[in-house]
Order: sequence, then structure tokens, then C-alpha cells
Amino acid sequence: MPTVPESVDTFAILHEVFGYTAFRGHQAAIVEHVTQGGDALVLMPTGGGKSLCYQVPAIARHRAGQGVTVVVSPLIALMHDQVGALDEAGVPAAFLNSTLDIAGVQAVERDLLAGRLVLLYAAPERITHPRFLAMLDSLHERGKLSLIAIDEAHCVSQWGHDFREEYLQLDMLAERYAGVPRIALTATADDHTRADIVHRLSLEGAQPFISSFDRPNIRYSIVEKDNARTQLLRFIRDEHDGDAGIVYCQSRKKVEDTADWLRAEGFSALPYHAGLDADVRRLHQDRFLREEGIVMVATVAFGMGIDKPDVRFVAHLDLPKNIEGYYQETGRGGRDGEPADAWMTYGLADVVNQRRMIDESTAGDDFKRLQRAKLDALLAMAESLDCRRVRLLSYFGEDSQPCGNCDNCLHPPARWDATEAARMALSCIYRCHQHSGFGFGAGHLIDVLRGVSTDKTRQRGHEGLSTFGIGKQLGEPQWRGVIRQLIALGHVVSEGEYNTLALADSARAVLKGEVVIELREPREPTPRGRGRTKT
Ligand code: ADP
Ligand code: ZN
Repeated sequence: MPTVPESVDTFAILHEVFGYTAFRGHQAAIVEHVTQGGDALVLMPTGGGKSLCYQVPAIARHRAGQGVTVVVSPLIALMHDQVGALDEAGVPAAFLNSTLDIAGVQAVERDLLAGRLVLLYAAPERITHPRFLAMLDSLHERGKLSLIAIDEAHCVSQWGHDFREEYLQLDMLAERYAGVPRIALTATADDHTRADIVHRLSLEGAQPFISSFDRPNIRYSIVEKDNARTQLLRFIRDEHDGDAGIVYCQSRKKVEDTADWLRAEGFSALPYHAGLDADVRRLHQDRFLREEGIVMVATVAFGMGIDKPDVRFVAHLDLPKNIEGYYQETGRGGRDGEPADAWMTYGLADVVNQRRMIDESTAGDDFKRLQRAKLDALLAMAESLDCRRVRLLSYFGEDSQPCGNCDNCLHPPARWDATEAARMALSCIYRCHQHSGFGFGAGHLIDVLRGVSTDKTRQRGHEGLSTFGIGKQLGEPQWRGVIRQLIALGHVVSEGEYNTLALADSARAVLKGEVVIELREPREPTPRGRGRTKT
């Protein structure tokens, strides 16, 4: 394999072409390895600087006479941005995608075959098209196919959040252009996805470069939901008055309502969701970027590609779908490296809703199974009594020590053994169902457990049950915690329009006392911020 002469100085390229003074993190090692013709698998969080990892080698290798680098990317907007930026930096680059007309395509193809391009970006379905492959063959025969970069490589995995069928075809490039180095890049790094990328893209021999996904300046807190709005208000007032932040909600309606309400409370809050006019969205986004102290209330439609360094908090009023989502969304805070808060309220209804959305989706069984497993990982983090960051990073395959900068590290929660209470709750679910012939929701079951007499407990005859009042010693928040935990752990399922509760198979082990269930002691809401001023 021809190597690149020492005289091609990658640092000079970084400096002269991109205007940067130093490589960041693993960039230098990756650039060196790929420039010399090695295969690489790059895992780097969003914003980490993945593009330079193939752009600098592309320029170095082109200067050494090795021809063009082909970049596979699924994102048209990103291709346009990158080609525009490269153009400005004086690097001949182009893209091939559905936005070009025939004349445009032909012009790019001419430049490509004539060896004028340093980088060519293309969508995966273009690259595996016979006509395009024929062109690559011709370049390859002449030794002018320098490097293949596969961006957003997690798209090859069904486990990832962004599976694209066309990515599966990319495997053929490995064999067809054996000897041409390949670099695969992604910001999604859980073990499953990583294994899929290596396997499906035949990258067994590639050197992995894995950056830490830790964002040490982000403080993670997950609070038990009692009144989400009041909790949010207290959080912003006490800790982030005047700061820019993002509040994520699940539905468009909730986005609008929350933004209205925050405005009425005196904040500069703006709504953002896919149902708003493009003009309004653009205006709100611009204001968020330019003005100080705007609180953007948004669905997950907001945030992709938004690079605002001084977002001081990201709040979740609803549970995200999985840990990747949580990580991406909270990761929009504190890009400048200064302290930022990732704060979430989380309650029984969140667990029930997310479970139901998966159950009711029209996706196939395999997909649903995956979604459930991913939700379970997030729920385990939300329920955890130990360091949030350790949990988060271990999901991405990283071992770490308790961080000292999350709620559980800063204020270790009081725990109580809820094993007995869990057994009471399960018997109660069982008895009520057996007595009436159908199931009941959490509210009613808690009344029965606590022995609270209501119209419903009387009408249904549940006051005569052996479980009526067996749980008097616990308050309603504690019972909600027990039931939430049972659902989160999968021992109880919530069904149908009325969210009635039923026992899952695994409940048997809990009833037999074979499973220990530990819960966080519900706290009286204390003004946050105290801990911070003390330190
Ligand atoms: P990713 O694709 O990993 O999300 P990008 O490649 O878009 O990240 O880079 C994120 C930002 O960091 C860009 O604005 C980029 O110009 C900048 N950047 C990348 N590497 C460096 C560096 N070595 N020095 C300074 N800025 C850098
Ligand atoms: Zn911690």
C-alpha cells in the first residue's frame, strides 16, 4: 500500500486550511493513522470534531497524489454545509444527491473523473449505484481512489435510532476496493451499535478510536414528579434566572402551554415544534441564538445542529424515549465547558406513557423488543440511587467512578426497603382484579392499599378485601414510587385506555420475596441551589 510521504504535514493542513492551532482529543492520532492508510472506527460525541478526522487525511493524501476521498453521508443539509465550508477554505469538494439536476450531476462526474476533487460527498444509495461504482472502479484502477469515509455509521445498525437500509449495501466497498482505507464515524456508541458497525461494514481490522462521552460540566438531576410546572419554575428561578435554557416536552400542545405559562411567569420563553410555520420556527431559533436568556420550550424537533455554546440548562418535563435521546438532548447544555444543569422530572405517568407508546406503535415485534430494552435502560437510570453519570457512561460502554456532580452523588438519597410494600401492592392488584373481574388504575389501588374510603372502593366492594388498608403506614407518594418502580422493572404492566394494572410473569418472584426492591425515600421538596452555594 503506498504511504504518504513525510513531507505532507497534516498539522500544516490543520493550520493553513482550517485555521486551527491544535488537534483536539484523538484527532491527531486518527488523522495520522488514516493518512498512513489505516482503517479506523471513530466514536466521538457530537461536536467533538469528527469531520476533520477524514478531511485532513483527504487533503494530505490528495496532495500525495492518491486521488479522491469519498464521503458517505445520509444528511443532505450537512453535505451542503461541509462542501460550502471546504469551498471557502479553497478545497475542491462536491456532493452528489437528489438536489442536483442532470447538468449538475454531469459536472460533478467530470470533475471526479478528471481528478479535480479532493472530497466527494454522496448519499449511500448513490454510492452503491452501478453507474457510480463504475466510476469508482475506473478511479481505483488508476490508483486515484484515496479514502472512503462513512459518516453516521450507526445507520447500519437496527439497534441504533437511525437505521437506514441503504447502509447495509456499503459492505461491498470493503471487498471491491480492498486496500483503500476506510474510516467509519459515529456519535452513537453503545456496545450493540459498535459491534454492528464493525460486523456489517467489515471493519474487524479497523483501529478503534473511542473518545469519552463524559460531559463533566453537566450536572445530572432527576426529581420525582409531583407538580412538574411548579418544580420547573422553582428550578429556573432558584438556579437559572436569566439564563438561556431548553425545556423539552413530549407534545406540541404541552410545548405551547408551557411556553405561555412561563411567559406569564415573567420569562422570555418561546415555543418550538414541527407544527409551527417554518418562519416562526426560524425566528424563534434566531432569537434563541442571538438574544440572552431565552428559554426555548420545545419538542425533540429542536436542537439538531444548533450550536449555542452557553445553554445553561436543559430541562425535561417528560421522559425521553431512551438514553441516546437523553444524552443528545442534555448534551446541548454547556458546550462552552462552563457548568450546566440537566434536570428532569419523572413520575409514574411517564413510565406508563412511554411503555404504552411502544406497545401501541405499528412497528414489528423485534423493533418493539429493542425499544423496550432501551426504555428499560433509561428507567433504570431514572430509578437509580447511585451515580447517574456512572450509569449513563456504562450504557456507552465506559467504566467510571461516582462523579460528585449529579444529584445522587451530591445528596445521597435516603433508601428504604420496599420489598414488603411491593408484595402488598402486587397482592392488591391481584385481589382487586379477582374480585371485580377486571383491572384498576394506580389511583384506586393506592386508595385500597391505604384504606381510603371512596365512592369507588364502596361501589366495587373493595373495602371487604383482605388487602384493604394493609398499607396504611405509607403515604400516597411512597405508594406511587412503589408502583412506578414495579412498572419500571417490568413486574407490573399497565394496560388499555384506563392504564389498568396487571401482574407480569416476573411478579411471582417478587410475591415470593425472592427479589429485593429498594426505593428512594420521597423527599419534601427543598429549595435546590442550597447545596451549590454551600460548596
Ligand atoms: P461532529 O461532526 O463531531 O459533531 P464537527 O466536525 O462538526 O463535529 O466539529 C464541531 C465543531 O468543532 C466545528 O465547529 C469544528 O470546526 C470545530 N472543531 C473541530 N476540530 C477542531 C479543532 N481541532 N480546533 C478547533 N475547532 C475545531
Ligand atoms: Zn454522580
